[in-house]
Amino acid sequence: MPELPEVETIARQLNRLVVGRRIVEFVSHWHRVTEPVPAKHFAERLVGRRITAVGRRGKFVVMELDGGEALIVSLRMTGRLLFREDASAEDRFVRAALRFQDGTVLRFADTRKFGRMAIVDRVDLSDARRERRVSDAPLYRSLGIEPLSRRFTVRWLADMLARRSRAAIKPLLLDQREIAGVGNIYDIEALWRARIHPLRTAGSLRPADAERLHEAIRWVLRKGIRYGGASRRDYVDARGNQGRMQREFNVYGRAGEPCPRCGRAIVRTVVGGRGTFHCPRCQRAPRD
Ligand SMILES: [Zn+2]
Repeated sequence: MPELPEVETIARQLNRLVVGRRIVEFVSHWHRVTEPVPAKHFAERLVGRRITAVGRRGKFVVMELDGGEALIVSLRMTGRLLFREDASAEDRFVRAALRFQDGTVLRFADTRKFGRMAIVDRVDLSDARRERRVSDAPLYRSLGIEPLSRRFTVRWLADMLARRSRAAIKPLLLDQREIAGVGNIYDIEALWRARIHPLRTAGSLRPADAERLHEAIRWVLRKGIRYGGASRRDYVDARGNQGRMQREFNVYGRAGEPCPRCGRAIVRTVVGGRGTFHCPRCQRAPRD
């Protein structure tokens, strides 16, 4: 499932590939992609529009249109945004497509069909970057802080941990209402880097833990972006290429392998329904 680094990778590519192109056709092949809006109404709002910028908010791709509206894409589990210069090139599981004036096409392919698109009013990307006003948009109404923004400070994190003191740290980092964009992979890698057991409560973390966690979250996300995201099963970028971050995991998917820091075997457990990985020596379990 694409997380912040994967979506950021796609958004940066699309910012080079589709900005300035005018939409001449929108086609839907799966009615729920645009629900609750009928695809016909969707097309009416998109056709004739030019894409002026592409960015990211949380795990959403945000395509700003001239006229002030924005097309928002949620990739969910298996969604892909594929830019094709040659529209005759075939892609599988295409649920919707934007065709541009110059014959190029942006396809939304999605094997599992959980991905969605929405058009929102009066959202501009500069606002998305500054995290203001975008909260009006229904798809990301309650999105939390951007962890790579300046507002995400050690102080902010410490305050949040105090406010949510009884929550276990692993599911708390996945809560998009607090921190937007972190999913299971980067959560696991950040906790390992910060040497924090996934079942520790937020309230049990000391100031030094919060400081390490803050550094670790930003470090793993930035590294993920630098490596073009992580491709395990489905993720590919807007050119259809795999990312390289999956080779860089320290604990994710490495049960039984030695911890790169101390050599102890990595353990897989399930926390809050999510498979998780940690080092039992570097990440000490909380005492009851
Ligand atoms: Zn270790």
